[in-house]
Amino acid sequence: MSCRHLPAIARCSWLARLTRALLFFACTFLPAYALAQTAADSDKLLTFWAGTLPVILAAPHGGREAIPGITPRRGVGVPQFTVARDSNTAELAEAIAVKLRQRLGATPFLIIARFERKFVDANRDPAAAYEMPQAKPYYESYHRAISQSAETIRQKWGSGLLLDIHAQGTQAEAIFCGTDNGKSVSQLQKQFGNAALRGPKSLLGHLASTGYKILPDLTSQERESRYTGGFTTRTYGSHQGTRIDAIQLEIGSNLRAKANLERTANDFADAIEVFAREYLLCRNSDCAFAPSLPRR
Ligand SMILES: [Zn+2]
Repeated sequence: MSCRHLPAIARCSWLARLTRALLFFACTFLPAYALAQTAADSDKLLTFWAGTLPVILAAPHGGREAIPGITPRRGVGVPQFTVARDSNTAELAEAIAVKLRQRLGATPFLIIARFERKFVDANRDPAAAYEMPQAKPYYESYHRAISQSAETIRQKWGSGLLLDIHAQGTQAEAIFCGTDNGKSVSQLQKQFGNAALRGPKSLLGHLASTGYKILPDLTSQERESRYTGGFTTRTYGSHQGTRIDAIQLEIGSNLRAKANLERTANDFADAIEVFAREYLLCRNSDCAFAPSLPRR
């Protein structure tokens, strides 16, 4: 019997039941299906290397990919809203990791957001990072990778270093450092004093001795003012009891230019190695990793 042969009231109730059944199906099964799709997709826009060194390299703003089905953020009411890409920071982070692998036969943890910042800003708290619910898995994949890497480092080596790699366009040859004026590197300071932050075998001190302009100047008492770190250094830094010292690095445009990328990556790998040998690998109780590093 077709629908039009039914009395109006019966037709209504038949349609109502069908509609309810369809709604129930849609509400029960589709979100789970959609979530599974987006969870898988979100990992495709993330570069993640599980490291064999207690060092995390993160690059949240260098991505070049659109996120399917997501419109660019508008930033209404979001402080310090920007959608600008940190050009060549994804490439630089990866090049540093490759250089470390070539030098040491060991790799840092590498976490690169491949999605464009205009869709998700991975260096913001969740409320300011994305606007559409479909963007959430991309943000969460990125931060899950950092927190899991930090946890692995704590378990295997006790403590570690996180470098959050960014770009600035105000001083082409300079690197601004952000640590919330020492908070996110408080464990290093406590354990080894200023030498671990500014000395010749510190990461920044070694870069400075290689000729890089580090700001604020390491020899001055100047405080960080222009760049003081961001969500990542504030969340994962050692002042939170994480045992991960975190530094945000805002790298000048000449240092990130394609023609100079290889040299910059090499110098960073050199500085990371010098720092790690002095302050990272052998300060842990078992020093389990150190013997497998090539001797110098
Ligand atoms: Zn940035």
